[in-house]
Amino acid sequence: MRRNYDLIVIGGGSGGLAAAQRAAEHGARVAVVEAGRLGGTCVNLGCVPKKLMWNAAMLAHHLDDAAGYGFDIGAVRHDWPALRARRDAYVERLNGIYEQNLRERNIDYLPQQARFESPHAIRAGAETLEGERIVIATGGRPQIPELPGAELGITSDGFFELPSCPARVAVVGSGYIAVELSGMLSALGADVCVFVRHDGVLRSFDTLLRDVLTASMQRNGIEIVNDCPIAAVRKSSGGIELETAHGSRKGNFDTLIWAVGRAPNTDGLDVQAAGVRLDAAGCVATDRWQNTNVDNIYAIGDVTGRLPLTPVAIAAGRRLADRLYGGCKDRHLDYRCVPTVLFTHPPIGTVGLTEEEAVDGYGQEVKTWVSRFVPLYHALTGEKPESAMKLVTVGPGEKIVGCHVIGPGADEMLQGFAVAVRLGASKADFDDTVAIHPTSAEELVTMR
Ligand SMILES: Cc1cc2nc3c(=O)[nH]c(=O)nc-3n(C[C@H](O)[C@H](O)[C@H](O)COP(=O)(O)OP(=O)(O)OC[C@H]3O[C@@H](n4cnc5c(N)ncnc54)[C@H](O)[C@@H]3O)c2cc1C
Repeated sequence: MRRNYDLIVIGGGSGGLAAAQRAAEHGARVAVVEAGRLGGTCVNLGCVPKKLMWNAAMLAHHLDDAAGYGFDIGAVRHDWPALRARRDAYVERLNGIYEQNLRERNIDYLPQQARFESPHAIRAGAETLEGERIVIATGGRPQIPELPGAELGITSDGFFELPSCPARVAVVGSGYIAVELSGMLSALGADVCVFVRHDGVLRSFDTLLRDVLTASMQRNGIEIVNDCPIAAVRKSSGGIELETAHGSRKGNFDTLIWAVGRAPNTDGLDVQAAGVRLDAAGCVATDRWQNTNVDNIYAIGDVTGRLPLTPVAIAAGRRLADRLYGGCKDRHLDYRCVPTVLFTHPPIGTVGLTEEEAVDGYGQEVKTWVSRFVPLYHALTGEKPESAMKLVTVGPGEKIVGCHVIGPGADEMLQGFAVAVRLGASKADFDDTVAIHPTSAEELVTMR
């Protein structure tokens, strides 16, 4: 049987659902083909379950701080299986809501693996679907390195399946997923050791954020081993042992987590049957309009290899649908100045250029303002972790091109500041804004 659509979307994750729903709202006849669970990585194996785990980890930190505020709460036990059951039930509810959203917009949902048969035809299970246009929104998956014993480790996907909090964990990697998972596991009771191939975590982030986060992770008991590429993994009587490229052995651990990057989901798609070009990393090559090299085929989200974030995939999908079906001829996503948050302990919020990037681009024109302080919350707690903020400006007008924050509240603080940076605010605009007191955020408008 053949079915005909204006638009077929392959992948029902953040980007695919956003594009499909917006196109249907503009009147297009749409099908979504999804091989896994609706909602994709963000809902099932990413942002949502991760944020719930982070909330639990934050509560653990607050419980540690409570004595400073006069609470005598005695010994506390954490029930990981109970947290996992509630978390998974919430995610399942979301899966149902996403399916309902598709029904309400008369979008056909096919729970199948899709592959191209031609530029206009998709094979989904036993059916062939014909589409005037096709969007590839197949996202990515965690990578496992090719080295002996690598299969003894799990990835971020496996983290969400852990039945209990492991006692001793090795996390290999230095990106945001590595530091987020380490922080959550440590707060919930695990002994965590992070193995970094080169020099330090979060290499692409501003140095101030990297330094303050590293100190904070170490204060929380996380060991960070730099310049330590892993060459092999083996099972030993005590658990899992890592062999480094320098010949030393590390261990033993109960759990090994690979957080070494993600690969695009393009291999099962048969893109050759449609003539779609992939780049050297296997991502679907797109221009600023999300066009591929094939006229009627587009790609959005992580599979394009650009800024792998949920709101980016959603924004690209909605703008594409507005352009194709909503009469907005010029609509496309501007990938510059996208804010992002890391759910570490404490959290990080960042937008725009790091100081290093600004100096590379603007040299002597760059000026920075930095504030480091112990936030008022920690005035009464045993631990006194530092918060830090940096504004990066360029030119005589001191236009703000970078805003970087680490400390309690950074996650909620940054969205509003990102609007100001996007609108081209200057340091003088920040200074002219009356502060909100007593908050950490006020530091950003009172820096001297
Ligand atoms: C641990 C973790 C934490 C994260 N935390 C955050 C965060 O805090 N904030 C944030 O903004 N982003 C976060 N992300 C990133 C975010 O999840 C992704 O950027 C986002 O999900 C990308 O959306 P997408 O639509 O491109 O792909 P996905 O959401 O991955 O959806 C792709 C879908 O396509 C399906 N698919 C693949 N191949 C086929 C096929 N051949 N046929 C049919 N279906 C197919 C897959 O099953 C999947 O459901 C996190 C990611 C991870 C892994």
